Amino acid sequence: MAEQPPNRVQQEGSPCEPVASPAKPGRPIIVQKYGGSSVADVDRIGKVAERVVAAKRAGNDVVVVVSAMGKTTDGLLALARQAASAGAAADPPRRELDMLLSTGERVSMALLSIAIQARGFEAISFTGSQSGILTNDRHFDARIIEVRPFRIEDELERGRIVIVAGYQGMSYRREITTLGRGGSDTTAVALAAALGAERCEIYSDVDGVYSADPRVVPDARHLPELDCAVLQEMAECGAKVVCAQAVEWARRSGVALYARSTFDAGPGARETVVRRFAPGSASSTISARAIVAEGNVVLARAPGGLRLDELLRAAGELGLCFRDLSFGHGGGAFVIPLLNVPDWHGARRKLAALLPSLELVEGLAAVSVVGDGLTATAEPLARFVEVLGRAAIAPRLTVAGPLRLSALVDAAAIAPAQRLLHASFVAT
Ligand code: ADP
Ligand code: ASP
Ligand code: MG
Repeated sequence: MAEQPPNRVQQEGSPCEPVASPAKPGRPIIVQKYGGSSVADVDRIGKVAERVVAAKRAGNDVVVVVSAMGKTTDGLLALARQAASAGAAADPPRRELDMLLSTGERVSMALLSIAIQARGFEAISFTGSQSGILTNDRHFDARIIEVRPFRIEDELERGRIVIVAGYQGMSYRREITTLGRGGSDTTAVALAAALGAERCEIYSDVDGVYSADPRVVPDARHLPELDCAVLQEMAECGAKVVCAQAVEWARRSGVALYARSTFDAGPGARETVVRRFAPGSASSTISARAIVAEGNVVLARAPGGLRLDELLRAAGELGLCFRDLSFGHGGGAFVIPLLNVPDWHGARRKLAALLPSLELVEGLAAVSVVGDGLTATAEPLARFVEVLGRAAIAPRLTVAGPLRLSALVDAAAIAPAQRLLHASFVAT
């Protein structure tokens, strides 16, 4: 089956670009997603329950997608690594990781359902597979390929609030899969598309999307509106406020995203509205919108003589994703992001055995300027090079495209690089 994010429309026989299911007449459906910090303890889960109940009282059908509590997923991963450390391979098998990690979201879905029922409302929780989230069989980093939310629709029909465990699905082999780190966002947007929801609200510890990570760049600017293309580029390059696969679903289906803070949601609270085409996004201006960083990436350098088809075969065999590949007579280079590679130790060993001449440089991070028209003239790239050079930050690789300028730098330089680039490109 094609690896695209289809939905109910595709089931009905259309092989074309998936679009949101038409909203059914009746009550509007709202999908809300609450991240780990929003459900970190039972107190916070109670506050989320109040918020959910208020949306129901306002006359909506409500579907809530939850992440695991706090840093639960990191804790479970650490346990798996500990259990695997006795063996020679030292990497836990991906299938078992998915069995383990998917339990985190099950805990929060049940607790939220209990908290809502304690407030006198009917609610029911479902796992990803019960919710009809069907994925490919790429464990730890699966892609949703179909959503069949029949049980959710039945329960909404009965007037219940439905709570769904984010970040997980079931493959066509009936195996439990997880959707890559941050994947509860993807669950929420894919469900919103399949249900024909009016909107998808993403609640986290920030009140929307900023021009840089506000934890790193204190004067980052709040962005009230964004189009999907820019946010998708930001997410692909490491801005974790909304995950990239979720934005891809929003772009394809036309579902509008509202990124908000769970903790600061009174009237007048700020939010970022993300649409396929934000007002002004069709203009042909050259503009930098945000600075984004991603830690834990590897630079692979291929010498002349290594063939591209050999390289791709090896990457395919090991299930490695890569980006920014360039290849020519004198050799090539590409970047491997490690966020969704839980078994890098083993993969690195196998890569070295398959392609002994490939050089792997670890301990790097990527910093990017994201915007529009960044290669329409040479000026943005010249400024990018100049800003990093002035701070004696020497990139190992520089990549330029219309939506993004990126540099691979030593991990230690990543925070100052973001602040300097923000001051030069966004804050002026
Ligand atoms: P959740 O657990 O609710 O899904 P995440 O931790 O995944 O939340 O995402 C929210 C975090 O994303 C923020 O705390 C912030 O530090 C980080 N972040 C990175 N880049 C940005 C950005 N450009 N705008 C807003 N937040 C950002
Ligand atoms: N709990 C998962 C993670 O930490 C998914 C998510 O939070 O969206 O990556
Ligand atoms: Mg997240």
